[in-house]
Amino acid sequence: MGYIAAQRVPEICQKLFCYCGCDYTDEHASLLDCFTSDHGVDCIYCQGEAVMAYKMSRKGSSVEEIQKAIDLNWGPKYPFFEQPSDQIKKYWKTRLWAKGNGPTAAEKHNDETPLYDPFTGAQEKNSKPMGKAEDCCGKKDVKDPANAKGSKEPANAKDAKDAKGSKAATTTKQ
Ligand SMILES: [Zn+2]
Repeated sequence: MGYIAAQRVPEICQKLFCYCGCDYTDEHASLLDCFTSDHGVDCIYCQGEAVMAYKMSRKGSSVEEIQKAIDLNWGPKYPFFEQPSDQIKKYWKTRLWAKGNGPTAAEKHNDETPLYDPFTGAQEKNSKPMGKAEDCCGKKDVKDPANAKGSKEPANAKDAKDAKGSKAATTTKQ
């Protein structure tokens, strides 16, 4: 799914940062790099970002809006904030919505940050936290397969929500 999404919007994926930690582990510079090998196969970060980028672009969102949504969703899960890589520093300087030398306050490392809905701006407080980066590309030895499956739920929940429409829009605070 992520691969198909990345194939359809490679020019957008190239302008997105993957927050799974592959900037360190595989020297990836952009999300597109995750899909030029089998790296993205079972990574909820890579997959989720690519699918979100594809969905948003289909709805007419700009690259700037897509970057923002992805940064706010996955940025806070980035495992290396204490020692950001050259890749993410470069991304911060070139991204369109918050160009600068570091993350915005909303992106400060926090595993508990609720998912941000790019279409409504709402934060889904009820959604389960995403899997940690250690469960993903950095370390592939996920012990409990049931757990790994469960960690993919936020993306699916989002799909279901998209289908139902954006009821949550009224709770927007952004
Ligand atoms: Zn990645």
